[in-house]
Amino acid sequence: MKQTSLQKSLASLSLGGLRYFDSIGSTNDEALAWATEGARDFSLIIADEQTTGRGRAGRKWVTPQGTALAFSLILRPNLTPASSPESSNPSLFTGLGAVALVDALKKHGLKPQIKWPNDILLNRKKVAGILVESVWTGDALDTVVLGMGVNALAGSNPPDDGLLFPATNVENELGRPPQRVELLRDILSSLMGWRPKMSTGELTKTWEENLSFRGEQVEVWKGDEKPLAGRVMGLESDGSLRLLDNDKIVTVQFGEIHLRPAV
Ligand code: ATP
Repeated sequence: MKQTSLQKSLASLSLGGLRYFDSIGSTNDEALAWATEGARDFSLIIADEQTTGRGRAGRKWVTPQGTALAFSLILRPNLTPASSPESSNPSLFTGLGAVALVDALKKHGLKPQIKWPNDILLNRKKVAGILVESVWTGDALDTVVLGMGVNALAGSNPPDDGLLFPATNVENELGRPPQRVELLRDILSSLMGWRPKMSTGELTKTWEENLSFRGEQVEVWKGDEKPLAGRVMGLESDGSLRLLDNDKIVTVQFGEIHLRPAV
């Protein structure tokens, strides 16, 4: 990936700023640091390799050199919970990222699904992960860093052993290598389109329509607690997951959750 071609192909998107790295620890860390220096809304950090890429709870997200898309977008909602409860709900930003990824992958002829809360699947295998981190000033959401790792080319997947969920990449599912910059532009442009609609309910509806395991029996783990089991019904307006357990609806709050199809 070259910075000049990146700048050229993202020119129409009016980004707040762009920082490209051949190699970096974590794009989310760089984004959080840039935000404290006053980065503008919709500033983008992108790297061709991450050496300490993160998933949730400090788990590792693998981004080998030259094979994946690893980027973080800095969003500055500048809203207080009182003025707009939904757009200051960081969970919805995970939905925003997920829906944008789904749109872009569909545009490339694929059939992506969202493994609630933060992963994208192709053929029931993980092709991308989303990591949203937020910074609050008092009760105002100051910064949202929306990080994404997309397994674009063959070679982007971590070794199978040690993976808790099977992985794939776009090239493997498409049968040919995608243009990474094109994929990036499609994700960002969808994200820009969806962002103003975050609190309209339309986003949650589309997020829900693209959930994986809909109507299927799943198990949901939270820490060491006994897993919840139920059939995936949909989402609440705040992005919580709705399961049907026997005849009872159970709502799973957004958080440190692991979802698996029941075996
Ligand atoms: P799970 O999929 O088990 O519910 P999770 O959604 O919590 O986990 P994240 O924290 O989002 O997972 O991502 C980190 C995990 O993803 C790692 O523990 C590793 O198993 C897996 N992983 C790391 N890099 C990749 C990659 N490039 N492609 C697919 N999976 C990966």
